[in-house]
Amino acid sequence: NSFDTAGLHPIMLRNVQLCGYQTPTPIQRYCIPAVKMGHDIIAIAQTGSGKTAAYLIPILNQLMGKAKKLAAPRPNPVAVESGAAPPVTAEPLVVIVCPARELAVQIFNEARKFCYRTMLRPAVIYGGSPIREQIGQLQKGCDVLVATPGRLIDMMERPHVLSLRRVRYMVIDEADEMLHSDWEEEFNKILSGGEQEEGNIKYMLFSATFPTQVRKLAKDHLANTHVRIR
Ligand code: AMP
Repeated sequence: NSFDTAGLHPIMLRNVQLCGYQTPTPIQRYCIPAVKMGHDIIAIAQTGSGKTAAYLIPILNQLMGKAKKLAAPRPNPVAVESGAAPPVTAEPLVVIVCPARELAVQIFNEARKFCYRTMLRPAVIYGGSPIREQIGQLQKGCDVLVATPGRLIDMMERPHVLSLRRVRYMVIDEADEMLHSDWEEEFNKILSGGEQEEGNIKYMLFSATFPTQVRKLAKDHLANTHVRIR
């Protein structure tokens, strides 16, 4: 019933305190131990439930000790910017897919707070904004990527920009808001981007409603799943 007893790394616990969060919300009480146990998660969660922190806190907590081992080699951002070093393909450990720019920026801002002093570097990409700048951000190195689906696929299809081969956690947030006409093709592309290491990837799916397409997405891609409908 408290963050203190959730087994969080002291740096993460401090970040939670810096956010001013005193007690976990119900969805956080559920997700923090479930991620620790290595489960995939489907949660029916509304905005305002604290769902963003419910996935960020336990995922980043799991990764922070292992960031050095799992993460891609770190380019020197200054050298990349000045052209002295070649850009390196971004290989994030966490990808959070969400429907829209505003939500992406909101999640990114929360990710920045929880990444503080963890060595994990967050980045955000979304459509409707110049792609060059975002590519520059990615190529400086990124461990936690927040993305809208179209821009994510665009980046994956460009040479030497983004690879999902190191992804350990894939979060689909507000899944039911992403079910436009070609959602199935989009998600197959995104989810197969991490396929080399399939089995090692943990999935978390959040949705306010649970229509047939979301059920299908979960059935096709989530294993070892805890389902929580609230
Ligand atoms: P979300 O459902 O993720 O959009 O979060 C809704 C709001 O609740 C955000 O402003 C969060 O900063 C805040 N929040 C999340 N978790 C907690 C918590 N444990 N205690 C207090 N506020 C929280």
